[in-house]
Amino acid sequence: MPRPDFPRTIVEFQRWFPDDEACAGYLFESRWPDGFRCPRCGHGHGWPVSKRRVLWECAACHRQTSLTAGTVLHKTHTALHLWFWAAYLMSTPTPGLSAVQLQRQLGLRRYETAWMMLHKLRRAMVNPDREPLTGEVEVDECFVGGREAGLRGGRARGEKALVVVGVEVRGAGSGRARMAVVEDATANCLTGFVRDNVAAGATVHTDAWQGYRPLNRLGYQHQPRSQRAARARGEDIEEILPRVHRAISNLKSWLQGTHRGVSSEQLPVYLDEYVFRFNRRRTPMAAFQTLLGLQSQQPPTTYRQIIARRQPVPAPDLTG
Ligand SMILES: [Zn+2]
Repeated sequence: MPRPDFPRTIVEFQRWFPDDEACAGYLFESRWPDGFRCPRCGHGHGWPVSKRRVLWECAACHRQTSLTAGTVLHKTHTALHLWFWAAYLMSTPTPGLSAVQLQRQLGLRRYETAWMMLHKLRRAMVNPDREPLTGEVEVDECFVGGREAGLRGGRARGEKALVVVGVEVRGAGSGRARMAVVEDATANCLTGFVRDNVAAGATVHTDAWQGYRPLNRLGYQHQPRSQRAARARGEDIEEILPRVHRAISNLKSWLQGTHRGVSSEQLPVYLDEYVFRFNRRRTPMAAFQTLLGLQSQQPPTTYRQIIARRQPVPAPDLTG
């Protein structure tokens, strides 16, 4: 199904989506690129029955259809154009933004509104039909700290989460990435990540850690490289697995810089966000449509589902 084009600059964005009516028009184009079509009786004529032009009624059977059904915008009390801005800001490659920043940028009265918008958009970042990494893939793991990350010393490892990262080798650059929190650095967890995220038969580059040793047996072309051997050869340590190390370092500075650290409970959600943007860094506006739910019809997340998975809303960090 052809979808409407999307704006490519911030100026275009502003011109396209100045108000709720314009946004509703865009939703209409996304849902019915060939004009209104009643989902119940198939009739081709209908009219808007709400001021926002979000609810449409069939001229034949009078069934009412919401343009936001199945999208993250469904039943929202927040203005559509604010949602569009939030999705736009979230889909630009770097650096994403915190709830405090979103609240400021959109002039929202309540921090909780901004927080909930971000978390609903993040839910749309888990792409259910994503393809596994292919070709050559670098894999490594790292510890990511909790809220105290960045402070040095005296911190139990138990507060940190172990994150495994895989990045496709694409010439001198990087392709797509995957990240996941794992229990520990055992072969079970590490090869489990590879099996979940990398296509069978792919070439997997890792360091010499024993947890990766079973990969050959599991049907991968395993290419372990020892840091010690590299050092002995006078090679730059950073040059071992350069793509995955770059991704890890960018992830850490993003978590620290934009979000001031993230609790372990919420870390998987933030990893999804990071990977979502990383994998769409060349197509940010397609990311924008995905976030609003205009492509995949993800079941919308309720506030209750979100808060059930987290601790109380933190006080806004006004230094950010
Ligand atoms: Zn109808």
